[in-house]
Amino acid sequence: MTVDVHQIQLGNAVFEGENNAYLLDGDVTTLIDVGIATAETRAELEAELTTAGVSISSIDQILLTHWHADHTGLAGEIQAASGATVRAHADDADIIATGTDSTKRHEMRRQRLEEWGVPAAKQDELVSFLDRFGGIGGEAVDINPVTDGETISAGDIELTVMHLPGHTAGHVGYQYENQSNQFAFVGDVILPEYTPNIGGADLRVESPIKTYLNSLDRLSRAECEYVWPGHRERITDPASRVNAIRTHHIERTQRLYDVLTECDTADVWRVSAALFGELETIHILHGPGEAFAHLMCLVEAGIVEHVEKDTKAETTQKKQGQQYQLVDPESANNIEIETFLSETKYWNSGIKKYEYGTPGYWTNRHRTPYWNCWWRSYIHECHQGSIAPDRWGCGCNIWC
Ligand SMILES: [Zn+2]
Ligand SMILES: [Zn+2]
Repeated sequence: MTVDVHQIQLGNAVFEGENNAYLLDGDVTTLIDVGIATAETRAELEAELTTAGVSISSIDQILLTHWHADHTGLAGEIQAASGATVRAHADDADIIATGTDSTKRHEMRRQRLEEWGVPAAKQDELVSFLDRFGGIGGEAVDINPVTDGETISAGDIELTVMHLPGHTAGHVGYQYENQSNQFAFVGDVILPEYTPNIGGADLRVESPIKTYLNSLDRLSRAECEYVWPGHRERITDPASRVNAIRTHHIERTQRLYDVLTECDTADVWRVSAALFGELETIHILHGPGEAFAHLMCLVEAGIVEHVEKDTKAETTQKKQGQQYQLVDPESANNIEIETFLSETKYWNSGIKKYEYGTPGYWTNRHRTPYWNCWWRSYIHECHQGSIAPDRWGCGCNIWC
């Protein structure tokens, strides 16, 4: 049988462009994500549902991938109109239930921006941007939490919940099988063309890069034929998309290390400016958030340390945030981050050891003169130190 997934693209001028909602019609008429809470988006959703022969009032269930307003905004309204059960991971459920902004989150954000050294004028600019779009989080929702591994009936199929934290603490994917092939709705875990923000998109996530890369590994192991993302088009080659995103994070961590080799100490805002330049709107949060996430990765790997506060200097440096420096300045420019992190097993901690030729195997590839391209099962000779992303045309993006 074919699984009838109805992709609904909804306008969103606030964050990240268009949003996807997905309709699974059948025994349990289900929406996966719902778009922002504006009258225009609701009208678009209703029109698309009508085309598919479904009305808002006939929605039985809403499955949410994560708490961001562009995925959850209309859930409260639809629940009020239809009595639909709304489900999300417990780690994100409270934020969705109470509306996506709260005093507690405001306070956490303010504290974090201070620690990062974000200038007061930029903090004000961010707050007024967020206030302007405060309404898109929508009405309060009654949530019935999902748990990792749980099976949920949706449309005429069964979905299995995959907890994939990183972009947010409670981000989940919903996986299904059809004719022995695997598929999944993945929200913002992987997106085509650009990478989801890690570090600024949910300030509660600890060790954001490690947490996220572990989730990418898990998604890889699901071996999906294709996945349905929260924005833009279906990803027909999730394995190579995962690889490209992982490579991107390794390269960004390397750049961050390189920035730190050029200054005695730096705070997050300074590092962020070196990586991303001038920032506006939501990027005032997302830019330093991402810089912070990569900085934490280097701190946890023992390459960078937090500089203890010097109270005298503090009076003159009042406007700066917490300072970071290289643990061993002598090593400046000598650390190849990818090698260092893979040798210290940083990327892999908490994950089972990979078998030869399975997804994730590449992080251990230096241990053997051959490595197996797990994407298309080619076996390549390992030429230590020599090059070439995609040298064999198999999409591996791997350096030997
Ligand atoms: Zn998101
Ligand atoms: Zn999104």
